Amino acid sequence: METIEDLFYYVPRAYMDWSEVSEVDRLRVGDRVTVIVKVLSSELSRRRGGRTVFMAALEDDTGAIFARWYNQPYLKASLKNGSKIVLSGEVRFDRHARRKEFINPAFELMGEKDVAELVHAGRIVPEYSQVGDLSGKRIRRFMKTALDHHLDEVTEPLPAWVVKKRSLPARMDAFCDVHFAPSLEIAGRARMRLAYEEFFLFQVVVAARRKRLTAREASFKGYAWDSTEHERFLASLPFGLTAAQERVISEIRTDIEGPRTMNRLLQGDVGSGKTVVAAAAMHQAAIAGFQAVIMAPTEILAEQHYASISSLLGVLGDRVVLLRGGMKARERAEALESISSGAAAVVVGTHALIQKGIEFHRLGLVIVDEQHRFGVVQRAALREKGLSPDVLVMTATPIPRTLSLTVYGDLDTSVIDELPPGRTPVTTAVRDESSRKRVYDFLRAQVESGRQVFIVYPLVEESDKIELAAATKMYEELREKVFPDISMGLVHGRMKPEEKGAVMSSFTSGATGILISTTVVEVGVDIPNATVMVIEHSERFGLAQLHQLRGRVGRGEHRSYCILMIGRGASDEARERIQVLADTNDGFVIAERDLKLRGPGEFMGVKQHGIPKFAVADLATDMQLLVSAREDAFALLEMDGALEEPESRAVVEAIGRRFKGRGALIDVG
Ligand code: ADP
Ligand code: MG
Repeated sequence: METIEDLFYYVPRAYMDWSEVSEVDRLRVGDRVTVIVKVLSSELSRRRGGRTVFMAALEDDTGAIFARWYNQPYLKASLKNGSKIVLSGEVRFDRHARRKEFINPAFELMGEKDVAELVHAGRIVPEYSQVGDLSGKRIRRFMKTALDHHLDEVTEPLPAWVVKKRSLPARMDAFCDVHFAPSLEIAGRARMRLAYEEFFLFQVVVAARRKRLTAREASFKGYAWDSTEHERFLASLPFGLTAAQERVISEIRTDIEGPRTMNRLLQGDVGSGKTVVAAAAMHQAAIAGFQAVIMAPTEILAEQHYASISSLLGVLGDRVVLLRGGMKARERAEALESISSGAAAVVVGTHALIQKGIEFHRLGLVIVDEQHRFGVVQRAALREKGLSPDVLVMTATPIPRTLSLTVYGDLDTSVIDELPPGRTPVTTAVRDESSRKRVYDFLRAQVESGRQVFIVYPLVEESDKIELAAATKMYEELREKVFPDISMGLVHGRMKPEEKGAVMSSFTSGATGILISTTVVEVGVDIPNATVMVIEHSERFGLAQLHQLRGRVGRGEHRSYCILMIGRGASDEARERIQVLADTNDGFVIAERDLKLRGPGEFMGVKQHGIPKFAVADLATDMQLLVSAREDAFALLEMDGALEEPESRAVVEAIGRRFKGRGALIDVG
């Protein structure tokens, strides 16, 4: 916390409603109320084990009642006989003394105060999470003082028309009411106003970024879609497209031909058939004389894309080139040469490889597969090279809408919400150590009937050496003791690309029955004959990630299974969380739950996603608010594209104050 505003943004985590004031003779057991009383007498006693009890007899004009506080001996000094206090708590019945009592109630010395000045009792009391050594109670006191003295320093960043249109309370009132509210409803409105503002400011950033991104360069004007060629592409496929695939292709077509650069996010659950959509677009780029590149997050996936895209586009005469790690110098030079000369129409590689100083002849389309991680930064890097190609980002982990509007808020969105026909959903079961033997028997039966199995071992970043050792040990144990007669493979992130490639192609060809792997298979691998996905220590994964892993099976004609193993130490909570996977196959439902359970930062996996740290707004729940704020932010950019009007400048300044150094990538200008 650096500024007074930062302090005001430290909003309560909850409120206690102690606003109902009662008279002592009307108190009933179970009431949660406030009384205004005088201290009649008190006594501090010490119990065995050092526990202290401070007991006070209290009265108002109507009667007397007792209160006791445990382990707060210092109260003896502050609650003197005759002092007038406001006391809030729940009325309990003490069986021994056979009387009504308050236990550890909140209270405040009334003195000469007016009821409106109360902080800790007799009102709607804000509850704060502790910060370091500062207790919630100290923060409350501190907040009250800060509000009393500094509220007038607060300025209004929202344009007047926005405040009016959304009937928002003024910012000053909002800060005041979010902490010390006259009613819960007003506190709610104050919170809403502050959340709206956070969303609005961030969406202005998003809108500005989008405006810049979609400006077509003079050198790249888009191109016409060749329908005859597209028909030829469709005719070459072994299947017909789903309606969703067709719809998305036509959205892409509109972008390619349109006056603005394509910046599109394509979401589709695992197995929904995104690759063929990518291929259709790349084919058009190639036909128009541009180059297209598709980037994958892992070597394995790049290899696999190379195979499927060569077979989809090679037959049409488009020249497809693979760029992978560990290429021989000559091979690599050749590939680079064909890319810079333009001989290569379609380039497949990993993100890392493609970003490393490659000269394109005429880059028109960039497709980024399976990537949360490809964001603003990489697109900016491309632009710096003087390239402003159309960009399509494909992700298989469905992203809840609030998050996609934030992290990918500058992109248009397409969704493939339909799986190709004939898929049966994967049967999912949660199992623990007690079923291990039965699980192994099941795996054996599957392999013996000709199917293949994945066993995935989690890699936790900090301890990946230990985990890798565990995966390796498991591999050896299974190979020696459990499945000596079955051909097994091991693949992990520390292997050289050639080694990995060899293990994977043995699995792809069907020679390997069981593949043990760390999470490198997470994305995109397409092996229709694999029918079982076993995930060890599934409690260590996020739900979205588990869903993604599950999507590696159920890709062929055979019935498929996902077995989620739960480790010995897993909590009941973890089990419950994992159970969500067994209950639904819908990636969007899972993503929403995952977001609620883990929060946006964890959901997206890493920190550098441009998710701002909102103090009040909640990406898991404030969807409607976000949509309104976004609408207004985009409207602002329509009216004042350069953000030069005085009202816009106030917005830009507020953005700087609000998000600087907080993980959001801010450059509005
Ligand atoms: P993902 O969206 O997870 O990347 P893929 O593009 O890898 O999915 O497609 C999964 C599988 O479905 C592939 O084997 C692909 O050939 C097949 N496929 C894609 N579209 C269709 C379709 N319309 N009909 C039948 N199979 C399809
Ligand atoms: Mg894919």
